[in-house]
Order: sequence, then C-alpha cells, then structure tokens
Amino acid sequence: MTTDKTYRLAVLNGDGIGPEIVPASVKILDAAVAAAGAPAIAWQELPLGRAAIDTHGTAVPDETLEALDNVDGWLLGPHDSAAYPEPHKSLLNPSGTIRKHFGLFANIRPAKAFRGGNAIVEGTDLVIVRENTEGFYADRNTFAGTGEMMPTPDVAIMHGIITRAATTRIAHEAFKLAMTRDKRVTIVHKANVLKMTTGLFRDVCRDVAKEYPEVSVNDFHIDAATVHLVRRANKFDVIVTENMFGDILSDLAGEVAGSLGIAPSINSSDTHAMAQASHGSAPDIAGKNIANPIAMILSSAMLLRWLGAKFDDAQILAAADKVEAAVDLAVLEGTVTPDMGGTTGTSEFADAVVAAVARV
Ligand code: ATP
Repeated sequence: MTTDKTYRLAVLNGDGIGPEIVPASVKILDAAVAAAGAPAIAWQELPLGRAAIDTHGTAVPDETLEALDNVDGWLLGPHDSAAYPEPHKSLLNPSGTIRKHFGLFANIRPAKAFRGGNAIVEGTDLVIVRENTEGFYADRNTFAGTGEMMPTPDVAIMHGIITRAATTRIAHEAFKLAMTRDKRVTIVHKANVLKMTTGLFRDVCRDVAKEYPEVSVNDFHIDAATVHLVRRANKFDVIVTENMFGDILSDLAGEVAGSLGIAPSINSSDTHAMAQASHGSAPDIAGKNIANPIAMILSSAMLLRWLGAKFDDAQILAAADKVEAAVDLAVLEGTVTPDMGGTTGTSEFADAVVAAVARV
C-alpha cells in the first residue's frame, strides 16, 4: 500500500564518530526517500550525550525523552559515556537510558558480508536477536539502582536476571524473523554453568519454538558459539540470546562479516524503534573522516523497514531497498573506508552512496 505518510524522525548525533556517521545517514535517507517517490522525512535534531551536558546540564534531557515519544522513530549516534565528567559518567549511559525508558526490548543485529567487502567468512548472512532489557547487564535489570554493588572497596558483586516473560517476548521476535528468512534459529546460552538463568532462557526459547514447527532449532553454549562463528558464520541464520552474550557475539559477527563498522542494529518495542549502529563511539578515530558510516546507514534502513511494516507503506520499504542497494553498489565499486581496506573518507563514501541511489 502507498500511504504518502510524512514520517517524523528524530536525530541524536551522539559522541565520537556520531556527528560524522549520523548526518551521512540522514543525507542518504533523504536521497532514497525522494528517489522512491515518498514524501520528504521531517527531521528533528535533539540534544543528547556530551553536548547536552554542556547545554542542559544532563546527558539525557527530559525534553529529549518527551520529544522522542512523539516521533515515528529516531537515529541514535553512539555515546562515549566513559569520557563524561562526573556525576554523568557514573549514571546509566544515554543509550541504556533510552532503551529502558521506551522498553526497547528487541535488539536486532544483522551481520551480512558484502560482495567485494573484506569478509573473514564469505557468505555470512545472519541476524542476532538480542534480549535488551535484562540478563547480565547490571545497568538494565533493576527498577531502581543498579545490579552491581561494592560492599567493601575490594569486593564487587553483580546479579543477572532472566524472566520467562522477557524471554518469551524475544523468542517470538526471533522465530517470526526466522519465518521470513531461512527458518533456522540457534539459541545461545551457558546452561551448563548458569543453569537456572540461561537454562531458563534456553528452555523458554524451546517452548516458543513449538509454536513455529517449520523452524528448525539448535542451541550452543556461548563459548562454543564464538568458535563456530569464526569458522562457520555463514552457516547461521537467526541467533537468539540474552543481553550480554548478544552484545559480544554481534561485535564478533560484524567483524567476521567484514568490519564492526558495517554492523547495523535496530532497537524496538511494539510501538517505538531506534536505529543505532552496533559499534561504539570509536573515540580513537573520531574527527578524522575515516569512520565507516555503513553500520549507521543500514541501521537507518532497518528503521525504514520497521516503519514500512508498521504502516503497511510500500514507498518507505522501497526507500529502504534503495539505501541497501546503493550501499551494496558503492562497496562493489570499491568505494570503501580504511577499515574495509580502502582509502575513501566518511563524507566521500556518503556522497558515493547518494550518487548510487540514482542508479539502483
Ligand atoms: P561500546 O562499548 O560503546 O560499544 P567499544 O568499546 O565496543 O564501544 P567501539 O567504539 O565500538 O568500542 O570501537 C572498537 C574498535 O572498532 C575501535 O578500534 C574503533 O575504531 C573501531 N570501530 C568502531 N566503529 C567503527 C566504524 N564505524 N568505522 C571504523 N572503525 C570502527
């Protein structure tokens, strides 16, 4: 269906390489939406992160959270909260705050090798479905306070949480996604040691699997999964796992597919969605115009796909197709940033993708 809907999307540039890769993505989305004949996106830039500490005295201003609740989705740049001055450094980081505030429980992280890219495992095309609200990340699994404490300066304690409800919800995301792909799901856990917690995760995923008889299921311990990914990433379809395992595995999968700089992600609930690259703020290369913007660009395309499904909007889905095809074409033509073995700068790559939009 064609809706002619004007989407209102927010832009949060973030820290480190964020102000380089996020504007690049905005430019490409504008070109793709125009080429698909859809109405122009109405962008709204909002304060967040290091810049917001200076202007608003907080990394996550209330006005930003309120504004996000009223848009169709948003692009979030990475954050370098470790470099914030105290007390901001010790608080939950901006990305975690937003995920928690909006209950963005599903973090979908594809790792797909490009033709002409420098994949470690050619043919990699998998998606990690990461539970985003609990598990072993202490900043996310409590109502108040954090799940870490230090009873003495020399003793640190953390806890992890796995619930049937959150696992059921993320398992359905994984199996529904598998139904649109190769119909295979791998559950990753560590049930031989973390028997109750990740054992519950595995068992609940297996229960949900019964509702999807067409999907084949297997499972691996997290340590075994890393080994299989390095050698045989191209044998996986959908991987479902808890929060911390998913974070680590998706960095590995991104690099195996060619570079951490090409690994996109979307964080979503049933009502809100946020495009966010899988990588961090890469302070070591910030400001040098060498960051790879592909992860952020493809995350933005994932957001268009999420909107297209939500609003049954063929035009915005066509725009997402154009973004992806244009990135493929630019990479195939050898226009790649240093992390992929090339010499192209961030802004030059973005220009090449904008030019490619007209040719796909
Ligand atoms: P976080 O914990 O916030 O995810 P991190 O510690 O995993 O961050 P990153 O910021 O993701 O670290 O950086 C890891 C490495 O990957 C760094 O060497 C960085 O330069 C590189 N890197 C990350 N993103 C990109 C990118 N888009 N283009 C090129 N290199 C990148």
